[in-house]
Amino acid sequence: MSPGECELRAESHGAEPSTVRVRTTRFARRERLKRGARIFFPLFGLALVSLPIPAWHLAAVPGFLLAGIVLGVRRLRQREQVEALEGPCPACGRRQDFAVPARLTLPLTLRCPGCGAFVKLYSAG
Ligand SMILES: [Zn+2]
Repeated sequence: MSPGECELRAESHGAEPSTVRVRTTRFARRERLKRGARIFFPLFGLALVSLPIPAWHLAAVPGFLLAGIVLGVRRLRQREQVEALEGPCPACGRRQDFAVPARLTLPLTLRCPGCGAFVKLYSAG
């Protein structure tokens, strides 16, 4: 794992834009494989355990297999994960740790934990 950092432009209505830093963890190929395997194999195991159970196996075996493949592939493709969003809030000017969303899609609207203002994040480039 290697840490990455980038900056986003933060805007709030009627205030000067500020810059928020995004700290991410990047996953190398091996880590992505490991993370994918860690979700796939337990679900694959559950599918195997479900095999001898009458009726239940009809839904459980394909269900666990499908979930294992879908979640495994999703992790395999995930190249990085956001760890922290921090910087001055454009509305109140104080340094804040913003809540990290499950998925970082831009533009992203957050609320400042300090003053409650809506803060919109754009890519700085
Ligand atoms: Zn604020």
